[in-house]
Amino acid sequence: MFIVPTFISRCNVPSVFAASAASALRGPPATTGYTDFVKADVPVDLANLELAQLEDFVESLGHRRFHARQIYRWIWKRGVTDTAEMTDLSRELREALAVRAEVRTPQVVKHDKSEDGTQKFVLRLQDGRQIESVFIPDTPSQTFCISTQVGCAMGCAFCLTGKMGLVRNLTAGEIAGQVRVLARALDMLQSPFNIVLMGMGEPLHNYDETMKALRMLADEHGLGLSPRRVTLSTVGLVPMIDKLAAEPLMPNLAISLHATTEPQRAAIVPPTKKYSLHDIIDACRRFPLSKRSRITFEYVMLQGVNDTPEDARRLAKLLAGIKAKVNLIPLNAAPGIPFERPSDERIDRFARILAEQGVVVSVRKSRGRDIRAACGQLIVEGQGRRSPAQQLAEAL
Ligand code: SAH
Ligand code: SF4
Repeated sequence: MFIVPTFISRCNVPSVFAASAASALRGPPATTGYTDFVKADVPVDLANLELAQLEDFVESLGHRRFHARQIYRWIWKRGVTDTAEMTDLSRELREALAVRAEVRTPQVVKHDKSEDGTQKFVLRLQDGRQIESVFIPDTPSQTFCISTQVGCAMGCAFCLTGKMGLVRNLTAGEIAGQVRVLARALDMLQSPFNIVLMGMGEPLHNYDETMKALRMLADEHGLGLSPRRVTLSTVGLVPMIDKLAAEPLMPNLAISLHATTEPQRAAIVPPTKKYSLHDIIDACRRFPLSKRSRITFEYVMLQGVNDTPEDARRLAKLLAGIKAKVNLIPLNAAPGIPFERPSDERIDRFARILAEQGVVVSVRKSRGRDIRAACGQLIVEGQGRRSPAQQLAEAL
């Protein structure tokens, strides 16, 4: 078989498993700034603080900084949300936390299980907005697919989330909190898992909070999640890809390419008008990669739009010289999406051409379609405000 068989589902799953490299990947040192969002009458959200910020906060309450590590462990290793349950803290500190702080935690309002084992969670945030997060088992590892925004401003023509427009960015606590909530619900806080930032939203359009969330998840006092277990998927916001390239904490990179010519991409991925295919490929060429890693290029297959043998040959040419792997994603069709999924034969032919040109290629098996948890099917209705086109113009 010429296609690398994968069980990759709605998300691309990194194949490299690394021991926790968290300690090598500390975030910026203790310039905390938690006071930026401490308002006298609003409790501090402990689940939105990096460890250094939490240390400052504990100190500001008149207690020793090391207690922050205990609190961090309770929240991120044990999934505890009530400070009264943090029994290795002194009574004074617990009382101070009860008055001044809270552990904000997304609430599960819906939990669906697909026939194939995929589980979709609808989570309600503090302000009532809703997001979706998905658990995909055995790909072969366990994977959480999480959201970075409520909706998305990018407006890709085949994506239901894009149809919502952007409602708001998630905070780092809300991004990382999805992992905490799902891992606790599934009794997986102590087990290894991967994360893909392929849920609702464009992670590089919410850069700072996304990176802060990855630092919080990587902290060895919490989940200690190696960034090599994280894959960030982006529509291709070039300046942000360059910024990511300089991060001490470097997730795997996946680029949603979807097309092989500028007009073709511009027709289905609106940000192409600002960041061309050419610019994106250039940014990938300068993106630093560790020895064994590759950039994943996601390619949603749309019948009669981008699925011809010429497209396959152009794609191989575009990627020449890049350590790449291509993940073909047969469209998940949905009402309101004006495209169709190509036949299996057509997808196979496309993959075969890529493989013949020496490109590593896999076809993503769609998971969770019966519960609408597959790629591009994440949408929580009735939350948008301004028109998606208006939002895209503002975003770029
Ligand atoms: N905004 C980021 C990450 C979230 S979308 C991005 O675009 O990369 C995650 C993946 O789902 C992307 O590759 C996206 O193109 C794909 N996707 C969106 N809608 C889809 C659909 N209807 N069918 C199949 N894949 C889809
Ligand atoms: Fe946004 Fe990604 Fe959907 Fe495009 S595919 S609209 S970038 S979530």
